[in-house]
Amino acid sequence: MKKIGITTTVPSEVLIAAGYSVVDLNNTFITSENYEECIDIAEKAGFPKNLCGWIKGIYGACILNDIDEVVGVIGGDCSNTKGLIDVLEMKGIKVYPFAYPHERDIGKVKESIDQFMRIFNVTNKEVEHTRKRLNRIRLITTEIDELTYKKNIVNGFENHLLQVSLSDFDGNVDEFEDMLNKKLLDIKKRKPINKKLRLGYIGVPPMTGDIYSFVEEFNATFVYNEVQREFAFPRFQASQNIYEQYYNYTYPFDLNFRLDVIKKEIQEREIDAIIHYTQAFCHRAIEDIVFKEKIDIPILNIEGDKSTHLDARTKLRIEAFLDMLLDSKEMK
Ligand code: SF4
Repeated sequence: MKKIGITTTVPSEVLIAAGYSVVDLNNTFITSENYEECIDIAEKAGFPKNLCGWIKGIYGACILNDIDEVVGVIGGDCSNTKGLIDVLEMKGIKVYPFAYPHERDIGKVKESIDQFMRIFNVTNKEVEHTRKRLNRIRLITTEIDELTYKKNIVNGFENHLLQVSLSDFDGNVDEFEDMLNKKLLDIKKRKPINKKLRLGYIGVPPMTGDIYSFVEEFNATFVYNEVQREFAFPRFQASQNIYEQYYNYTYPFDLNFRLDVIKKEIQEREIDAIIHYTQAFCHRAIEDIVFKEKIDIPILNIEGDKSTHLDARTKLRIEAFLDMLLDSKEMK
């Protein structure tokens, strides 16, 4: 099956209906043994030092894995992707553009997805057929997410990893579904994780995956991974068609819709506090100002750069934050 790289979540139903194996270059980069080499390749090619590590990692992963077709998302995701795809095209990689509309408007979402279907020469019927197939998998991750916060038998890292993987279904839909089904059986045999603090993670998925195990050392666990959950399309059952499904996706649109969903999940999951992860040199870091104003539980903003491990200063800040939360919860 022919591979196609993506720079963020796109309507993968269209690509799979067109016969592609989808490769989320973010996942390829961050799980790669050659993780540092991906960044080195980009910096040697001239990507600036003061550019987000994800963009450099995506570029390096593309080159190292001989990806020759990529969907570059030029609207609703990252302002740096335009520059990235210019370089990819110069390197001879075929780039297909996709843009989420600026406004959250169902008509505009439909225009974007219809255009995407025309590029890949697939019909609405084929896409809906694929969507139904993928929804079987979305149902499993929805259950795993519920088991995370209702039964406390899934840890924060697993919750993160399994949901973030729905951007590309690990490149093989059938194998991914088998793996998830086995995982679910295993999860259901577990005993609950008893931690005093229930945390929410918001923001782009972390470069520093050790944040999940680190908080567990301090009687805390993540029961919500905001953007990762969006990648899994948790509201797919309320969507009649592909247009509604992507209209109900919070990440590319304005912060108000995203905030409504976050606030609802804070209530539903009984979350004590939020850790907002931002990436060095990312414009999305500005969103922290709005989150701190509009969310009425404690929020700690941490920033990652190129390392896959939390640095000592960030660890100290998280530890102090969790200590303060534990004290205040015990006093209550
Ligand atoms: S972290 Fe920010 S700058 Fe980096 S790829 Fe994502 S949106 Fe772009």
